Amino acid sequence: MSDPMNEMHPPTRLMLTPGPSCLSPRVYGALAAPLVGHVDPWFTEFMGGVQELLRRVFQTGNHMTFPLSASGSGGIEAAVVNVLEPGDEAIVCVNGVFSGRMAEIAERTGAKIQRVAAPLGRAVDPEDVRRAGKGRKIKFVGLAHGETSTGVVTNIDPFRKVCDELGAVLIVDAVATLAGVPLAVDRQRIDICFSGAQKAISAPPGMAPITVSTRVEELLRNRKTKVQSWYFDLTTTMNYWGKGRTYHHTPPIPLIYAMHEALRIVLEEGLEGSWERHRQNQKALIAGLEAMGIGLFVRDPADRLPTVTAINIPDGVDGAKVSSRLLHEFSIEISGGLGELKGKIWRVGLMGYSSQRGNVLLFLGALERILLDQCMKLTAGVGIAAAASTFVGAAPVATGQGR
Ligand SMILES: *Cc1c(COP(=O)(O)O)cnc(C)c1O
Repeated sequence: MSDPMNEMHPPTRLMLTPGPSCLSPRVYGALAAPLVGHVDPWFTEFMGGVQELLRRVFQTGNHMTFPLSASGSGGIEAAVVNVLEPGDEAIVCVNGVFSGRMAEIAERTGAKIQRVAAPLGRAVDPEDVRRAGKGRKIKFVGLAHGETSTGVVTNIDPFRKVCDELGAVLIVDAVATLAGVPLAVDRQRIDICFSGAQKAISAPPGMAPITVSTRVEELLRNRKTKVQSWYFDLTTTMNYWGKGRTYHHTPPIPLIYAMHEALRIVLEEGLEGSWERHRQNQKALIAGLEAMGIGLFVRDPADRLPTVTAINIPDGVDGAKVSSRLLHEFSIEISGGLGELKGKIWRVGLMGYSSQRGNVLLFLGALERILLDQCMKLTAGVGIAAAASTFVGAAPVATGQGR
């Protein structure tokens, strides 16, 4: 072990993981701005600006919109525990680890939770939720818009319809999708939506933007029992993020600076521009992989999450060794499979500032080199060539995160 008193020198990594994604130099700059107190008048005004930018990214007019002092999982926790009261029943659509986490959090409240499952690599069928909820009093239906563990995107709209029929609140985990995949909270009538700072927004980890519809805000104010979690009680947290700006807990102020700059970057590019960039870069990645004879875990292209691609580890290839060489020789970090997909897939994130054309080509080049060493049969250069071809004639990327 090196002397812990030595100055730290973290390596510079290209993070092509399902989070965190790389930060823009502008965001690093914001992190270093002078610290002020959490009730400093300058800061309490600045908070309002951050909330306004979040509303634009969520595409909502919701008053209750702010970044929770927590990682994405804290967003799940806040959404679920604020809605549930003792004796409630709810449905969680489970198609992987993160939607499973929502079910687990909900179950820990003691509420009766029904998991409606889908095979890994697929989205849950809204028809199954309709059937499961029929004739029952369902408090909420929860789902992960982007299930990062398998690289699956869920079409939210049919679930809204089912929620209307059941009289249920719709909770959407948009941790891996906000700013990277089309999502409009008001138009899609999502009751509670939350995200994570470190994914397509490309801010440092540690904050979870959340937004709550007026109708559900009312529901929370009229709860019969207190929210079981003091820290995540949204109505009391709003004493700080709402008009009064009165102390609830001390938020991570520098992370709020960084979030502000990251949101400015997202909105300078424009949501449509950002969604298109994520789509284009994943298309290039997939073209490259397919040219190399490497298959994708999610079969149906309509189910594929644009921000995270799940890749089948080819037969005879040592997946962990490939990831390790990518990290040590190329300083590129990718992720492996979670749970039962461990050793079966790689997960490559092209999110936020990490979603750039050059990164796709760099990754494919490095991957090809390593796979050739593992004696995989492939023609040198085909992956990069196929990916690069998808960029020829493609619309130029707007300034902002893209380049
Ligand atoms: C990453 C992720 C989470 C968890 O976020 P943390 O910041 O790691 O707590 C939750 N849901 C989804 C869909 C995610 O991708």
